[in-house]
Amino acid sequence: MAIFRLIFPALLLLLLLQPLSAAEPRDAKRVLILYSEDEAHPAHEMTDQGIRAAFGSNKFFNVQLYTEYLDVSRFGEPSHARATADYLRGKYSGVEIHAIITVYPYALDFLLAERSTLFSEVPIIAAEITSRSYAENLERSPTRRFVTGTLIGDDITGLMDVALRLRPETRHVALVAGTAPNDAFSEEIFRSGLRPYAGRIDLIDLTKLSMEETLSRLRSLPSEALVLYSTIFKDGAGKAFVPREALLLISRAAAVPVFALYESYLGFGIVGGRMVSFHAQGKEAAGLALRIMRGEPPADITIGGDQGYVSAYDWRELKRWNISEADLPAGSQIRYRTPSFWEEYRGAILAGISFIIIETLLVISLFMSLHKRRRAESEIAATTLRYRTVADYTYDWEYWLAPDGTLNYVSPSCERITGYSAREFMDDPSLFLGTIVPEDRETWGRHHRDAHNQLNPGGIQFRIRTKGGETRWIDHVCTPVTDTQGKFLGVRASNRDISDRKKAEFEAQQHRDELAHVTRVAAMGELTSSIAHELNQPLAAIRNYANAAKRFLSQGEPGLSKARDALEGIIRDDRRAAELISGVRGLLKKEESCYRPVHVNSVIQEMLVFIRGDSVLEGLSIETDFAPVLPAVLGERVQLQQVLLNLMLNAVDAMNQSKPDLRKLVIKTENDEDRGVKVSVRDFGAGIDETHKDKLFEPFYTTKPVGMGMGLAISQRIISAHGGSIWAENNPGGGATFYFTLPASTESSGPHGA
Ligand code: ADP
Repeated sequence: MAIFRLIFPALLLLLLLQPLSAAEPRDAKRVLILYSEDEAHPAHEMTDQGIRAAFGSNKFFNVQLYTEYLDVSRFGEPSHARATADYLRGKYSGVEIHAIITVYPYALDFLLAERSTLFSEVPIIAAEITSRSYAENLERSPTRRFVTGTLIGDDITGLMDVALRLRPETRHVALVAGTAPNDAFSEEIFRSGLRPYAGRIDLIDLTKLSMEETLSRLRSLPSEALVLYSTIFKDGAGKAFVPREALLLISRAAAVPVFALYESYLGFGIVGGRMVSFHAQGKEAAGLALRIMRGEPPADITIGGDQGYVSAYDWRELKRWNISEADLPAGSQIRYRTPSFWEEYRGAILAGISFIIIETLLVISLFMSLHKRRRAESEIAATTLRYRTVADYTYDWEYWLAPDGTLNYVSPSCERITGYSAREFMDDPSLFLGTIVPEDRETWGRHHRDAHNQLNPGGIQFRIRTKGGETRWIDHVCTPVTDTQGKFLGVRASNRDISDRKKAEFEAQQHRDELAHVTRVAAMGELTSSIAHELNQPLAAIRNYANAAKRFLSQGEPGLSKARDALEGIIRDDRRAAELISGVRGLLKKEESCYRPVHVNSVIQEMLVFIRGDSVLEGLSIETDFAPVLPAVLGERVQLQQVLLNLMLNAVDAMNQSKPDLRKLVIKTENDEDRGVKVSVRDFGAGIDETHKDKLFEPFYTTKPVGMGMGLAISQRIISAHGGSIWAENNPGGGATFYFTLPASTESSGPHGA
């Protein structure tokens, strides 16, 4: 069992490790890159990127890179080289390096010089060898055993062909180069590359000059020239330059386009062309290092390589020299294209325009809504003013009671009617009920409940006590208020002060009662004679019965029964007489008439006022034709009004068959020379029956089914009591006119007996 305990975990461990051991770790290799120039040298930077890209993607080794920069252009003295070698020796004493890539020939020279004590056994890849002769020497040297390398591109023909294609008018080529060792390598490439063009192109030599002179020469170049920029690490005056910066000065000064061989100069004033790609060179060197580290002897690898090129152009320079993109060889890259303002800021421009449009629309819509609101506001203000004016200037006391019992509105006229201001009503919702007299509150309460239950209660009349303690009659109408959705918004009410009307009604009623009384009294006067006449009959009968009874009683026994009959006849006739008298007694309430000077016009006028609205006179038009000046008459106004009323009612009766437009009365007053004042009532009715004209004023003469025949008799009595006379005539055009006269008053006032 113990053995299983050991084996099992071991198996488990093996199983767990299985996937790890399948992907074996790549061997770690350390590669040193030794650059001739300093770190900021653009070509080195590009080479470095190429090297790193190639190592990064390799599947054989895990490559650790060490980079050193010899900065030869600034520190090219032998003493510096020795110092650097010492430094590197110390630095790398404990570090095993598997391959070294030198960039530019100087780095290789430096290394070979120190090789006995520095990286003595390490194979070297001499990248970017700048001259073929150098490569040839290397090929022949014993160091070739551990050294291979790549040649930096030197295809001047490729560059020139493109330059001449773009500038066919070219007759001169100005070559610009410096004086540093690197400048010399590069210059040599150009010189040898230009040799084939010797016949047709004139070479303007601008090498090894001071920068100032170079620039001044460049400014005056003929237009059929172009400039070939090699490198200037140092000018003819010994001044050090970063080649790119030198190129910028040159390009700016040159009156013609500038071309160069190296891609690293693109963007600094050259047009472009078929150029050396340092990135490709770096990749190539790294590839050689990998091959060597995998065991290939350096000596077996030919020095040279592919010399990677790139076809690239600076868009700005194409524009500057008016070179069409269409003329460029196929597959050319165009860099530094400056997008047009539109291209660069299209998004921002579109966003800006959209923003402006949206803002404008917003502003417009804001203005519109503002304008609309202003208009609506002014309309509301006008409407409010209109409604407020209507409400505030109503003669009646208007209010709007909200469902919660508060008042939404009370018109100012409430103060005229109640003495309380609208504010007092608004502030105290119970004030309204408080003004109603206690006797009418129940009526009001019922009505109020109905109104709030939306029962449309119509109108009521009630009395209020004003602030000053006066009682007033109010005619109240109200109606429930709802909005368009039918929601109950309270009750809208109108209160009219009808105190004056009520008073007039009351007075009219009094007047009518008075008139009825007088009528009764007057009628009794007339009745007296008929009563006397009527009484004569029973009295005569009683007398006859009594005489007969006396006679029958004197006959003794046989006459007794006849005597009894006679006595019963007496009793019967007596009862008849008694009934007559008792019937009359009720009517006999004697009151003294009081005659005073009165004005007939105003007597008539007053009577017309209080009979107004009487249903009997409905549909009747009453015209008056009053003499403007009339003498006063001595009389009793109520009796005179009774006469007038009798005449009017008769006229109405006479016209009840007439057409509506003929139902009218004309009441006329005029001066009567002999007799004072003459009053006439003219109608357009049937007229008077001429055959009975003399009977008109007799008591009990009537032609009406329910008539009494007393009206004219009483009227005649009243008028004659006033000293006047009354008569009637048929009008020539139909209808009748009744006249009466009243003598003018000679006294100012005073009672007269009836
Ligand atoms: P009553 O009106 O009860 O009949 P009146 O004494 O007032 O009693 O009138 C007596 C009669 O005189 C009337 O029944 C009517 O025949 C006649 N009479 C009165 N006024 C007019 C009139 N304006 N036109 C025609 N007939 C009239």
